[in-house]
Amino acid sequence: MNELSKKEQYDLEKRQKLDIRKQTKKSGKTRQFLKIGLIVVLFVAGLGVLAFLVSKNPADKTEDIISRNGLHWHPELSIYIKGQKQEIPADIGLGFREEPIHTHDAMGVIHLEFSGLVVREDAKLANFFQIWGKQFNSNCIFKFCNGSEGKIKFSVNGKENNEFENYIMRDGDKIEIKYE
Ligand SMILES: [Zn+2]
Repeated sequence: MNELSKKEQYDLEKRQKLDIRKQTKKSGKTRQFLKIGLIVVLFVAGLGVLAFLVSKNPADKTEDIISRNGLHWHPELSIYIKGQKQEIPADIGLGFREEPIHTHDAMGVIHLEFSGLVVREDAKLANFFQIWGKQFNSNCIFKFCNGSEGKIKFSVNGKENNEFENYIMRDGDKIEIKYE
């Protein structure tokens, strides 16, 4: 009596089919999960790349671009400490490494010689002082700081200016720093 009846055989086949269907349904669900997972991963990765690009080049905004094919500007800088003109030496920034901001003579002419894309940040007066290795900000020029001995005065083209080291230099500027 091992033979299955027709009814039993039919039931068995039906059950097997159901099992197969269940399995494929399950793997279909897994596939869908993977698909959603992949989309989420790609989306997050995309956001990450975007954030990286933005953080890497925050200055590269159109309004911050001064030139797209370099520049050669000559602002002039004079520094007076208690009425005495201070020497700004020749060849600042022209050592082993040639800086895009440098001097050629001791006349106070700052050379800004950039190639390619130039942004506002590149022409900051602070960059010159950093290359020179001297201190300048709203509080101090060299070792002379605001106090009872004197006070910093900063002007551009004869007009008082409160940007100090953050001033963005322009061609032909007459920049004056006074401590008195
Ligand atoms: Zn020059």
